[in-house]
Amino acid sequence: MTPFHYQNHRLHAEDIPLADIARKVGTPVYVYSSAAFQASYRSYADAFAGLPVTVCYAVKANDSLAVLRLLAAEGAGADVVSGGELRYALAAGVPAGRIVFSGVGKTRDELEFALLEGVMQVNVEVASELDALSEIATALGRTAHVAIRINPDVDAGTIAQISTGKAENKFGIAYDEAAALFRHAQSLPGVEPVGIAVHIGSQITKLTPYRDAFHRVRTLYEDLKAEGIPLQRIDLGGGLGITYRDEEPPSVAAYAAVVREVFHGLDAQFVFEPGRRIAGLSGVLVTKVITEKQTATKRFVIVDAAMNDLIRPALYDAYHPIQPETAPTPETVWTEADLVGPICESTDTFAKGRPLPPLQADDMLVIGAAGAYGAVMACEYNGRPRAAEVLVRGSDWAVVRRRPTYEEMLAAQSLPPWLEEA
Ligand SMILES: *Cc1c(COP(=O)(O)O)cnc(C)c1O
Repeated sequence: MTPFHYQNHRLHAEDIPLADIARKVGTPVYVYSSAAFQASYRSYADAFAGLPVTVCYAVKANDSLAVLRLLAAEGAGADVVSGGELRYALAAGVPAGRIVFSGVGKTRDELEFALLEGVMQVNVEVASELDALSEIATALGRTAHVAIRINPDVDAGTIAQISTGKAENKFGIAYDEAAALFRHAQSLPGVEPVGIAVHIGSQITKLTPYRDAFHRVRTLYEDLKAEGIPLQRIDLGGGLGITYRDEEPPSVAAYAAVVREVFHGLDAQFVFEPGRRIAGLSGVLVTKVITEKQTATKRFVIVDAAMNDLIRPALYDAYHPIQPETAPTPETVWTEADLVGPICESTDTFAKGRPLPPLQADDMLVIGAAGAYGAVMACEYNGRPRAAEVLVRGSDWAVVRRRPTYEEMLAAQSLPPWLEEA
């Protein structure tokens, strides 16, 4: 049984009718399935069984503390890209020794905090960061274990906005410059180069770009080891895609088979940083119909969720599946509609020309595959409170991030003294 399914004609998350959650918490609301998170995490753990592997869940995909705690209990590490995410991961109980600190630009405060906490590894992708780490580590009397993220110059075959492994992208160190940087790292006090990292993009649906990038990583790893740089770890990043529409991404097992094939016989530990593949299909966004609007040429369905809640369609023209909360029948007449939010932007559109059943005010729709890069990208544009988030486990559920009140939203602002009188 899939975690989101119809039962008695109503869409459920595990054993809970989504309508029950919506009634109690209001809409829009994100609903996550514990079973789905566990199953997708375990698909990694199982696929790499027998290899020395740390699966560091990419926190940026979904940073809910409850999700992080759930994954930590499964044995996951974390891949974080800011001091904030590092704090979330630690607060959720991920041991620092299983946390990778990635990111193209880290501040000194963030680096200092990471070293004090003792993260497993800092992934460096700009030369100056090595010098900063050396200074900070020396001052703190710590050692910075670093991996250098290389840019393997492969085309991940994904959309340009989320491709990161081409020479033209801002990410990583050019392959040809990497060896010199490893030697530099080796020479710096307080810095210990421990590994090579690579992450070529997101929503990748083919194995070939991975295989190409992995071969380049293996060659470099062996060359550097032969030179006497004592590397021990290879971080292969994340990026494995999911099915939003009709994509057919490889199974985690097929991906693991490529890893085993390329790195056969190599003495190294491996790190993976999956985000979307763990979170994407584990969550949905439940929204309520406000009203419909029929123009001369088009049917618009206006819902109470908007681009501030889920920006992927506006940002990347991304496709999300949409299901009515009440199961359609064979007699249901579907007509094409644009599904839009109330925000004053034409890009505030979840779907164009999508077949939808007849709908009335307060009917609910469920936007699928919203567990990754959904709630984390939310903002309060148009004075809209961020959607609540709910975690379901079997027949239990709980709010894991409540919707802020308008009072709380106002409380974060203040007037300068010269305007207080007015
Ligand atoms: C975004 C990111 C990930 C996760 O990517 P997914 O496509 O969600 O798996 C992993 N590693 C790094 C360095 C990233 O920036």
